[in-house]
Amino acid sequence: MAASFVDKATIKVTAGKGGNGAVAFHREKYVAAGGPDGGDGGRGGDVILQVDDHMSTLMDFRFKRKYAAANGADGQGKRCSGKDGESLTLRVPRGTLVRDKATGAIIADMSGSAPFVLCRGGRGGWGNRHFATPTRQAPRFAKPGLPGESREVVLELKLLADVGLVGFPNVGKSTLLSVVSKAHPKIANYHFTTLFPNLGVVYVDEGVSFVLADIPGIIEGASAGAGLGHDFLRHIDRCRLLIHLVDVSGSEGRDPIADFEAINAELREYDPALAERPQIVAANKCDLLPPDSEALARFQAYVEERGYRFFPLSAATSQGSRELMRAAAGMLATLPPVTVYEPDYVPPAPEIGTAEELTIRRSGDVWEVEGPWLERLLGSINFSDYESRMYFDRALRQAGVFDRMEAMGVQEGDAVSIYDLEFEYQK
Ligand code: GDP
Ligand code: MG
Repeated sequence: MAASFVDKATIKVTAGKGGNGAVAFHREKYVAAGGPDGGDGGRGGDVILQVDDHMSTLMDFRFKRKYAAANGADGQGKRCSGKDGESLTLRVPRGTLVRDKATGAIIADMSGSAPFVLCRGGRGGWGNRHFATPTRQAPRFAKPGLPGESREVVLELKLLADVGLVGFPNVGKSTLLSVVSKAHPKIANYHFTTLFPNLGVVYVDEGVSFVLADIPGIIEGASAGAGLGHDFLRHIDRCRLLIHLVDVSGSEGRDPIADFEAINAELREYDPALAERPQIVAANKCDLLPPDSEALARFQAYVEERGYRFFPLSAATSQGSRELMRAAAGMLATLPPVTVYEPDYVPPAPEIGTAEELTIRRSGDVWEVEGPWLERLLGSINFSDYESRMYFDRALRQAGVFDRMEAMGVQEGDAVSIYDLEFEYQK
């Protein structure tokens, strides 16, 4: 079977690294010793997600799985800052959930139109011009840029539709969508015709409209992962109402009651909440039935006994479609809005290593501290946030950085320089 439908993809995204600061000195004719004028490194580009309503699948992400924003350029002499790295915007279909690969936690629900910054670019390093002090007039160092954030995420499409059409393949779902909206789904007399979900806007009355989704046919055993069905059920997760289409014509030798129960069993197995979702039943292909069909009456009684609203329909001739759409709009008016998922992802705190893993260099009263874990930690700290600064301070203490510096003879008031951060040492 051509299960080429893609509504889930795992990708790796990396923001740009910050550019390095420059070490440079002012040069001018007849001027003996110029001051430091090394510029700063540019900021690394972010990786940004943005909804694109022209996209309906996550297909593109299957062919390309790694994405990186541009690095910031290094600083130059004459106080020239390096250019910021360009951000990378990834376009996703509306309704894409972004999950952390490792934990499955939700990072973002791309339902709205606001862009979302998935990975922040690293800060650029400072050029040496920042490090001149009265006692250090020619600093021969600058700071390296910080790495950009990197994540592995799972994109998962959960369509944003008010109403989902469910039913076996070939019962007429695509036909119904095409007669009640301007959508042009593929219609053909064979199973699995719809490999992509189709959305259409249904205008019922002035000011009354809703979004209807035709999702590819559910097949028996779908919820257990056989065939296409399981993946497609994800799309109706958010629907506020289901229209359950059943072929009552017997044209394919099917029993409407058995079909109806089979689909409901699939929904239940996938998610009991989905089986509880308000449901309207539409008996399609009535045009093929003899007048006063007993089979139709039996099916109607069966459905209504179970508390569902029932509508006879001929999607092909559009007979009954108006009544069905009006009933759907009426029910929607009483139902809660489409679910938007709240993010529940908590970024893990960067790992804190030990002071022994760091390089501590002393030149006069300036102490330079460097090392991979410290670099990562620093990249995650927001220095305009008090809590974040306190966390950083605790981390340094906990790792024993200050103890080690004490042992090396650090004095009150000495300068401590950690990447783009500089502060006075205080006990
Ligand atoms: P889907 O797989 O559920 O999307 O079904 P389609 O909309 O693709 O329809 C399957 C076949 O049934 C097509 O040949 C349609 O023309 C036909 N069909 C759909 N609705 C009706 C109907 O009300 N009456 C009749 N006679 N045929 C229909
Ligand atoms: Mg179809």
